[in-house]
Amino acid sequence: MDPLDVLINKNQISAFYQPIISADKQIVVGYEVFARMNTEEGPQSLGSFFNDDSIPEEYRDEIDDHVQTLALEKGLLNPELYLFLNINIHSLVKDDGDRLMDKLFSYQKKGISLERIVLEIKESDYATNYSDIKHLITYIQSTGVNIAIGNVGISSSNLERLAKLNPNIVKVNVGFLEGDKFPELYRDVLHSLSVLTRKLGATLLFEGIDTYSKLNFAWKNGARYYQGYYLGRPTDSFVDVEFCKGTIKKEFHHFIDYERKKIKSQLQLADSLTQSLKLTLKSIKSYDLYDEMVISIAKALTDTTFRVYLCDQDGFQQSSNAVKSDEGIWKLEKESRQKNWSWRPYFLENIVRMDFEKKGILSDLYTDIEKDEMIRTFSYPMENGLFLFIDIPYSYLYEQDGLL
Ligand code: CA
Repeated sequence: MDPLDVLINKNQISAFYQPIISADKQIVVGYEVFARMNTEEGPQSLGSFFNDDSIPEEYRDEIDDHVQTLALEKGLLNPELYLFLNINIHSLVKDDGDRLMDKLFSYQKKGISLERIVLEIKESDYATNYSDIKHLITYIQSTGVNIAIGNVGISSSNLERLAKLNPNIVKVNVGFLEGDKFPELYRDVLHSLSVLTRKLGATLLFEGIDTYSKLNFAWKNGARYYQGYYLGRPTDSFVDVEFCKGTIKKEFHHFIDYERKKIKSQLQLADSLTQSLKLTLKSIKSYDLYDEMVISIAKALTDTTFRVYLCDQDGFQQSSNAVKSDEGIWKLEKESRQKNWSWRPYFLENIVRMDFEKKGILSDLYTDIEKDEMIRTFSYPMENGLFLFIDIPYSYLYEQDGLL
């Protein structure tokens, strides 16, 4: 689109609104505002206009200002909803946010609560001039206006900078993820983001939800707000606040049903391993010969595991590793004795839990460094005060329902 066309046809520019839906009430809680140009081919996005650095900033600011006015007027009619306004933080920094804040204050007098205004900054936009931006954001937040960091990418996110900006809302963009399977790495980064936002007291919003599986992904990763084509496209008007409540309730039911089955499968596996172990342990004559013990257990559970070993409560390995070769033959790796595992995530917590509850624990899925594949570990408290670890290979988990 020709930038000049945009500027001389300002009266053809309208504000479009994309609904943002809350997970807790399944209703529309607000809208992100977009600029659209009415053309003969229908409404056109002005994204390229705003992102074109060859267009002088004051022209882009002028259009921004126009769209913000339209949105705030609309906001006056719906004071209970959040309005997410995309802003260019660099042009705001130039006048310390005065122009925009004056505008917001004047709308506050007309009846808009500043707590309902969300200014959205792109994550990539605070890569430079960080301290001025941080300073301005702190001021804006002191007025009650919320700050959202938008378009947070999974690969680009710099958690430390994000944390220091202390936003009210973090918008993670899942739009670029393709297909239904999301790589484990994304899940872990998202998990960190979700933990971080919780610590900051910020709200996590997933944007770019364009499929059922991405809604599922958002639900599983602790997003409180959802936004995307799958739920609602930007239009020139506000929709009914309950427009997708029924659908989301149904989807939630599917998600919960599926996860419930998974949890059940995991409990069943833990239970059946416990039963087999109890049987095997009965036949073991001496609890003092650790290597003989792990080999006997390994052989008894040979279909379920590829590695078995014993540790004490400080995490020092007391037995060798019993390891199954590709041919299915169990061997002992003596060099693994006396290695310490207390530094590993969850290790100590699991030891204390097993000691307290006197029962085994099935771990989450994680990558085994040596095997370079996703595995789970079943750990079990022994009567002699030691702890048994049984590593379960991907091939086994794959064959059972609900273990991956
Ligand atoms: Ca945005």
